[in-house]
Amino acid sequence: MLKLTDIQPQQNEVYLDNNATTPVLPQAAEAAIHTMNLCYGNPSSSHMTGIRAKYILDTTRSLARQVTGATNGEIIFTSGATEGIQTSIISALNASRDNNHNIAKPVLLYGATEHKAVPETLKHWNQMLNIGAEVVAIPVDSNGILDQQFIAEHAANALMVCTMIANNETGVFQDIKALEDVIRSNNPDVLWMVDCVQGLGKIDLELSKTTIDYAPFSGHKLYGPKGIGVLYVRESAPYTPFIAGGGQESGLRSGTENLPGIASLNAIFRLLADENDDTFKSHETLLAYRTQLADVLNEVFPGIVYNHDFDCSLPTTLNFSVKGLSGKDIMNLFDAAKIRVSGGSACSSKVAGSFVLDAMGKSKWQSEGAIRMSFGPASTQQEIDNACEAIRNAVSAMQNSCLILSDANDSFDSTANGLQQWIYDAQCTWCYIDKAAKEVILIDPVPELVSKFDTLVSCQNYKVKAVLSTHKHAEQVDAPAIIRELLGDKMSADEFDQLGWSNSAKTEVELANGDKASALSIGEKMLVKVATPGHTDNSVTYILGTVENGKLASEAIDYVFSGDAIQIGGIGRSDFAVSDSDALYDSIQKLAAITNSQSLICPAHDYKQLFTTTLSIESLNNSLLAAVIKGDISKAEFSAEKADMDKQIEHSADTQLCGNIKESIDPSIDVTPDKLVSFLVEHDDVVVLDVRESHEYEANRQEYLADQKLVNIPLSQITEFVHDHSNDKTDASYVCICRSGARSDAAAKTLKRMGFENVYHVPGGFALVS
Ligand code: PLP
Repeated sequence: MLKLTDIQPQQNEVYLDNNATTPVLPQAAEAAIHTMNLCYGNPSSSHMTGIRAKYILDTTRSLARQVTGATNGEIIFTSGATEGIQTSIISALNASRDNNHNIAKPVLLYGATEHKAVPETLKHWNQMLNIGAEVVAIPVDSNGILDQQFIAEHAANALMVCTMIANNETGVFQDIKALEDVIRSNNPDVLWMVDCVQGLGKIDLELSKTTIDYAPFSGHKLYGPKGIGVLYVRESAPYTPFIAGGGQESGLRSGTENLPGIASLNAIFRLLADENDDTFKSHETLLAYRTQLADVLNEVFPGIVYNHDFDCSLPTTLNFSVKGLSGKDIMNLFDAAKIRVSGGSACSSKVAGSFVLDAMGKSKWQSEGAIRMSFGPASTQQEIDNACEAIRNAVSAMQNSCLILSDANDSFDSTANGLQQWIYDAQCTWCYIDKAAKEVILIDPVPELVSKFDTLVSCQNYKVKAVLSTHKHAEQVDAPAIIRELLGDKMSADEFDQLGWSNSAKTEVELANGDKASALSIGEKMLVKVATPGHTDNSVTYILGTVENGKLASEAIDYVFSGDAIQIGGIGRSDFAVSDSDALYDSIQKLAAITNSQSLICPAHDYKQLFTTTLSIESLNNSLLAAVIKGDISKAEFSAEKADMDKQIEHSADTQLCGNIKESIDPSIDVTPDKLVSFLVEHDDVVVLDVRESHEYEANRQEYLADQKLVNIPLSQITEFVHDHSNDKTDASYVCICRSGARSDAAAKTLKRMGFENVYHVPGGFALVS
């Protein structure tokens, strides 16, 4: 296990995720350490050590009053904003029980873009305290501004209204005065909480001049440590302690106070209150920082769209999406270039949008691809300059792998070559590039990847040989047709069948079973179309291989794009109206006859990041498939068993809609980060596979591994690696590594499953090694 002190930041990190948490200001850290070392007393003790501690507590409370404008009411120290939110909501709901209100249909109103802590707490305590109110979201407009008309209509029935001063994802701020007017004119007594977490240090607050009843704050969003917060409670607002016990905080919040945390707030509030100190920057300076960052972003990402209106947002947050790039692509690239931002879905195969942007009615691609870049009110000009330089450098790596277009595209030779798997929501698009011939084919594209493909093609003037589907469900968007249309003359003008196969592809090749099939060339290879109905009546399989003398021998096959007919861990569903399990039986037997048991199968779905398989592996794990291939089972028996399997899919809550998936993966062996370097010294024959995408690799090559054999094999190209190294399965040893350990784990498991014997991976990845 790594010692804590071994965990170090990378040199020259650019931290632009201040809305998630801020670094601790040196003055705040010093105050906390001083308090821990020398003023460690319990503020409740009456001896001098206790009195000194109490002084820290009391002065911090008055500083908190000063910086929040809370001249009266209570200031209570909490563990953070989530506790402040609990306390406010419990207080309000408890009071509503005491008041015996006579509202027939009470509601609890909250802004639709509120931090999850708010609606989840409302729902939780509404249920726990048996309040019986309806928890209702106040809609926002496309700028994220709360719908005042809606508030006016519902406020009279509200037991509580929860809004926020500024949004954590977009920085959009609300007009508190306007909200106050609409709330109070419709319900003077309703309890109103304003989550002020993202406002302190960025917006002038004068809480006691408002009718806000509760205002939670959080220390770690303003350069303090985690675990300390402040709650303002208006003088007239009802209050129920959330934590009872020894009666600290005048009985309002028990438990010995977090004095080091409070001391750090003391240091921060002093700086904030000191007009002669420039740690916290003026609004004008923060606006200039934003302009500087936006100028660079606009320059490097021609397709950038900001997901909020700068005029109604705090200057410290930039939330953007780039057409054709997933949030994950940008996040991973920035992270490799040591720029920390947030956004993108953490989970590898499911795409999650932002509920905040969804509430603002932003389009799906914007919501799913959103990146949040946030600096803080104490950021320095030097930090912003460094950030701009780092962004410029990072994005040139992206241009080199054809993820974005730039003027430089014509003058460089892209590294992209061979087979790539592009995954979107567990659906696989397979892109095959023949770099020498400058030709490309695309199989089973989804609409979300249209721009990505267009960029790739334009970047190197590739000739698009085909854009194909392996099958088409009636209700499905015809993504290949959209792409063909978009490509215009980058594709040959032609007539296509419903799956995108050119009607003028007249070449015929002979398959291993003697059948003839239509084929088209890509570089020196041929792509062959074979009808494999069953999942749908129009299903086909495309096979890529080398044709000699008009024949495609099964050993000469590179990849089998099986659509949904054969999947990893299952066989495609055959219970749709257009399915036919008898036909599926024939299709499986046909595939077994024309391919090799070791041919790499590339299906249309990849639910568990397994990438590829072979009939030999599938037969070992799937007795039904094995029986069909061997002819040990009749069509009728197959249909009956298959129908049972399909019923199970129907009943599972999973997204495994198109096939029947079972997991069977050998675990790979871990090399813990602290042992990596010594492991590499002991095993000098080992090859390190950096499985990050090529733009990430280019942005940060991890030079300290230079003496080892270090190769970049992007996870999206692991299938090609399996293909190209099928002879190295027993002799070679590989250590897979990536940013966090997630992709290297997937790569190592795939290699193991595909028969590579000596495979390791590094949990924690570069994040813990460097
Ligand atoms: N409210 C907002 C707007 C936030 O941004 C956050 C933190 O992300 C919270 C509440 C929760 O704060 P804490 O982490 O202090 O519990």
